[in-house]
Amino acid sequence: MATKKKAASGTKVAAPVGLSIEVRQSSIHGRGVFATRTIPEGATIIEYTGELITDDEIEVRYPENMKGLNHTFVFGVRDEVNIDGGVGGNESRFINHSCDANCDSFDKGDKIFIRAAARIKTGEELTYDYSIEAGEPLTPDLMRRWPCVCGTKFCRGTVLVHEPPKKKKAAKKKAGKKAKKRRS
Ligand SMILES: [Zn+2]
Repeated sequence: MATKKKAASGTKVAAPVGLSIEVRQSSIHGRGVFATRTIPEGATIIEYTGELITDDEIEVRYPENMKGLNHTFVFGVRDEVNIDGGVGGNESRFINHSCDANCDSFDKGDKIFIRAAARIKTGEELTYDYSIEAGEPLTPDLMRRWPCVCGTKFCRGTVLVHEPPKKKKAAKKKAGKKAKKRRS
């Protein structure tokens, strides 16, 4: 599958603040990331690290599974610049999606950081809304391939979103093939 490439330089920095988090089993999905002490709203928690890859490389590594379930470790920064948390990534790649998240993300240059969008209590699981751009209208079939199981009352049933391609895109998680189509 993936040919292992060397990450571009400068892709890794230490976690911006000394906030404590830990990775353990999550009731949402697989492993998750939890606060080991209170994290104040607005605090930058961790950088989303990984290998910098091109758009085409996403297709090679993570072609969309048209039959089963999909999941991605790739975070799109801008055109042709994506971070694959599956290669050289840190704890941040285990942060689960939620439709009612307590974290959000922001970019600075080619780096992505996860930040507390609310005050997070000790023991609480960290989540952010992956908002994976589907690049096409959300059909039931598409949503089934990219399901959300966050279980919150705001759950939209999928980790995907479909936004009109007008406003400047914020950095967000990225899917394979389908999700890229909208790019012009
Ligand atoms: Zn949900």
